Amino acid sequence: MPELPEVETTVAGLRAVLQGSVLTRVEPRRADLRFPIPVDLRQRLTGATVTGLSRRAKYGLVETDRGDMMVFHLGMSGRWRIDPAEIGAHDHLLIETGAGRLLSLNDPRRFGSIDLVRAEDWQAHAPFIRMGPEPLGPDFDSARLAAVLKGKATSIKAALLDQRIVAGLGNIYVCEALNMAGIAPTRAAGKISRPRLALLVDAIRAVLSAAISAGGSTLRDYARPDGELGYFSKQWRVYGREGESCACGGTVARRVDGGRSTFFCPNCQK
Ligand SMILES: [Zn+2]
Repeated sequence: MPELPEVETTVAGLRAVLQGSVLTRVEPRRADLRFPIPVDLRQRLTGATVTGLSRRAKYGLVETDRGDMMVFHLGMSGRWRIDPAEIGAHDHLLIETGAGRLLSLNDPRRFGSIDLVRAEDWQAHAPFIRMGPEPLGPDFDSARLAAVLKGKATSIKAALLDQRIVAGLGNIYVCEALNMAGIAPTRAAGKISRPRLALLVDAIRAVLSAAISAGGSTLRDYARPDGELGYFSKQWRVYGREGESCACGGTVARRVDGGRSTFFCPNCQK
């Protein structure tokens, strides 16, 4: 499942191809993914020039010189491919540039989404309205985290997955950061000391930054040989490693809440 680092790397790969490019062909190949694809997507994007690409949480943002912004989410299985060798049933949106590059949004499970908003008020749209700060941005620090967690009896893991508290964190990186910070996932969010929250903020930044770095820094790195963007192999500290050794010498355990697995080390996470 694509998490923030995969989206960041995907946006970097798309930027290498799309920034400054004219979109000569925009072809949705079905009416919907998780949500309907705007019926005027083709008309509003064809002939436009891409002026900027960025990321907010796990959303990719593609801005054009017409003041439009395409907002995409990769869902569970979405990926952009550059110059794919062939177009199949799971390629739901094709975009061609004036330079002759072909991009395809491929999403077998169709939990992803494509929307089109006006760039000037994109933050007023549904997923972004009450979204918390970017974990790698300047507004995410231990003072502000302490303020929003104050009095919260919910677990720190659930709190970090709450997009209003911090944006874009998913199960994998929450497990990894809690292990790095030595904090038990079940600990009450409002009962963690400021010094430990500072360690947690550092750990969140560290695990995300390391993953983004692992995604590389050039289009050659971002794109696998088949043109697929944003997916790269990573070494986890605890995620998916039940029964294996933690860095502390303890054994990684797994618990399941609401169908979601939490991996942690009972030895070093308190
Ligand atoms: Zn450990």
